[in-house]
Amino acid sequence: MTSVFMRVFLTALLALSVVGLAAVTPEASFAQEAAAQEAASQPFDPDATTEAYLASLSGPEKEKSDAYFEGGYWLILWGFLYGIVVAWLLLRNGFSARIRDWCEAHSKRPFLQTVFYSAAYIALSSVMSFPWAIYTSFYREHQYDLATQDFSAWFGDQAIGFIMAIIGASLFIAVLYAVIRKAGTKWWMWGAGITAGFIALLMLITPVFINPLFNTYTPLEAGPVKNAILAMAKDQGVEFDDVYMFDASAQSTRISANVSGLGATKRISLNDNLMNQSTVAEIKAVMGHELGHYVLGHVLVMVAMFSAILGLGYLFVTLAFGWATKRWGATWGIKGIDDIAGLPLASVLLSAYMFVMTPVFNTVIRVNESQADAFGLDAAKEPDGFATIALKLAKYRKLDPTPLEEFLLFDHPSGRTRVQMAMDWKAAHQDETKSEAE
Ligand SMILES: [Zn+2]
Repeated sequence: MTSVFMRVFLTALLALSVVGLAAVTPEASFAQEAAAQEAASQPFDPDATTEAYLASLSGPEKEKSDAYFEGGYWLILWGFLYGIVVAWLLLRNGFSARIRDWCEAHSKRPFLQTVFYSAAYIALSSVMSFPWAIYTSFYREHQYDLATQDFSAWFGDQAIGFIMAIIGASLFIAVLYAVIRKAGTKWWMWGAGITAGFIALLMLITPVFINPLFNTYTPLEAGPVKNAILAMAKDQGVEFDDVYMFDASAQSTRISANVSGLGATKRISLNDNLMNQSTVAEIKAVMGHELGHYVLGHVLVMVAMFSAILGLGYLFVTLAFGWATKRWGATWGIKGIDDIAGLPLASVLLSAYMFVMTPVFNTVIRVNESQADAFGLDAAKEPDGFATIALKLAKYRKLDPTPLEEFLLFDHPSGRTRVQMAMDWKAAHQDETKSEAE
């Protein structure tokens, strides 16, 4: 789904999840334990311990995860260029304008015309982008042993996402165009507010109506893990009835947990990969982090930040639209920015803006993630569990990037940053954790 709108919402949805991959090899686990034990027997040195943890992950496994993550940088660029080609194919020779004419011939109401056009646009661009989707989200995920679905199961999930995009994005786009017709070039301010409302609505319904379409969610069974999570939450002044578990192993091997929902639907969930492949200390460390997102209200923070950034993007689209049609659009048959036939162009311009803003999006998310990390360390008091889970997440996220690379391209803190933070926390709280280390 390369529709830029869906990408935004997908980003917003995924932003608050800790995603990763499990299954550290036995050798790596042993090396990590040795590192932890060696550190425990001497005066505690956070920097040396960090290096020891990082050194425990090396060789082909590390090269593979680095290759997966660095390849992801290029996917951002190629995905953007692929989107330009799709838009150009739709615009050239007035094809988009002919779809608009058909919509206008079949309804007198401008709102319905834009709904019809948007549905057709999403359908066409999804079909044209399908080879790209197969490569990035099916073939490549299998290539790096991150996916568990066969093609038909994967295709089924894509079909569900496609239907949701047709319904949700068509309505959203039609509302934006109604605002453009009414407010003219000042539409971008209203657009930002409507986007905030739309993302908030999506967040509200996601746990109840969207997530169950892809996975089965069940309240976590009573036991040491549930007790540990609820006790930790209670310490932080949050009373939960339930924590949810979902069968992510149906799709992937990644460890994951997340905060979803808004208001009454707000909840914390963890997946079965995390449950089955981690120690209680590691699960506590992850859930302390999620609790941080929950307590710090990060869902609303993200809604506000993303809407504001997108509002500026709408302004950019408004300014660049006329220039682009004048320069390239002689055969496109687009009448102006309020003409729905210009949607492929508006979408590409917004993509260009978002491409340039990638480091800004990443940094907004990464700052929240870092706050949740700090909160989680205080809440769970499991610095070594946090460090080993950071190493497990490094199976798909480059463990040790340069600071500039992390600043520009990481939407979560790197493994190095997280292990260092955990060891610094441990050094500052030696009295509290000493009994556990011995
Ligand atoms: Zn997080």
